Amino acid sequence: MAGTDDRVISDLARAGAARVLPGEALARRTTFRIGGPAALWVEIETAEALGRALEILAARELPWRILGGGSNVLAPDAGYSGAVLRLAGGLAAHAVDGTRIAAGAGASMHALAVAARDAGLSGLESAGTLPGTLGGALAGNAGYAGRSIGELVESVTVLGPGGETTVLPRDAIAFGYRSSSLRGRGAILGATLRLAPGDRDAIARAMADFAAERRARQPLSRPSAGCVFRNPPGEAAGGLIERAGAKGWVEGGAAVSGVHANFIVNEGGARAADVRRLIARVRERVRERFGIELALELEIMTGDE
Ligand SMILES: Cc1cc2nc3c(=O)[nH]c(=O)nc-3n(C[C@H](O)[C@H](O)[C@H](O)COP(=O)(O)OP(=O)(O)OC[C@H]3O[C@@H](n4cnc5c(N)ncnc54)[C@H](O)[C@@H]3O)c2cc1C
Repeated sequence: MAGTDDRVISDLARAGAARVLPGEALARRTTFRIGGPAALWVEIETAEALGRALEILAARELPWRILGGGSNVLAPDAGYSGAVLRLAGGLAAHAVDGTRIAAGAGASMHALAVAARDAGLSGLESAGTLPGTLGGALAGNAGYAGRSIGELVESVTVLGPGGETTVLPRDAIAFGYRSSSLRGRGAILGATLRLAPGDRDAIARAMADFAAERRARQPLSRPSAGCVFRNPPGEAAGGLIERAGAKGWVEGGAAVSGVHANFIVNEGGARAADVRRLIARVRERVRERFGIELALELEIMTGDE
């Protein structure tokens, strides 16, 4: 692919990238198990290396994007023409200090919840069942069981498009329903979360209960990217889809889950095109039946943004 020759790979390695893989299949890096090759898959472990890598990519006019756990995205069948960055090492580490947890954006939500539990800190019990990373959760203000990650934020550190690092206090960030003003601000490097002291056993029990509830209600045995649509005001998208008769609909290898109608699952060999067709059919049916336009919670990744 243009601009992704051996030279850019060695430049990125010299800049401190921990790993650079050409042609990495995004199907291996997303929970949907769908997606063609990224021209470059780059793992970065420090903010300095990230800054230098972004300069190299800008000089080559190569597009880039960060992927956390890849649990909220549909990657294109044709792949991605630029660099997909994964934050690892020091950018995925965490430290507990009193009632605060400071963590890199690449940290898994589960690891943070376990650290909080072990330190007797409450607040992450439900968020600990979210697949993916802190960075992905912050970008979309992810949440479960009525709580969202934004509620816990004390500050977020971002690397802006001009290479400047900024610490944003909580009140400088707008968190909404599955949205945050952090999107479009560049790379999220990490955050400090403020938790509350709690009883370790009670926290452990709550975490186990949330995990059991998820296993009972969601089709976790099949690859997916979680809920496809946002809940319209006062309605549950899954309920609308079920009442519209779309549960079980199939396109190629993709199906509207029979367990939870707001999930599309990969039954084996699904392509992004199958999922997109299914999304269009479900939307049309819900519009016809209820006059409601479903908005996507799933992010449809394009090949070259
Ligand atoms: C089985 C299942 C259940 C789910 N249940 C829920 C749920 O209950 N509630 C919920 O809210 N979501 C749920 N999801 C969706 C998903 O897990 C969340 O949205 C999650 O927070 C995404 O995190 P991620 O690290 O996987 O992000 P990714 O999917 O990798 O990325 C999502 C977006 O965030 C951006 N991003 C990621 N890291 C950074 C960074 N460091 N800097 C800048 N941008 C970044 C990406 O570029 C992308 O735009 C579920 C998904 C699955 C598969």
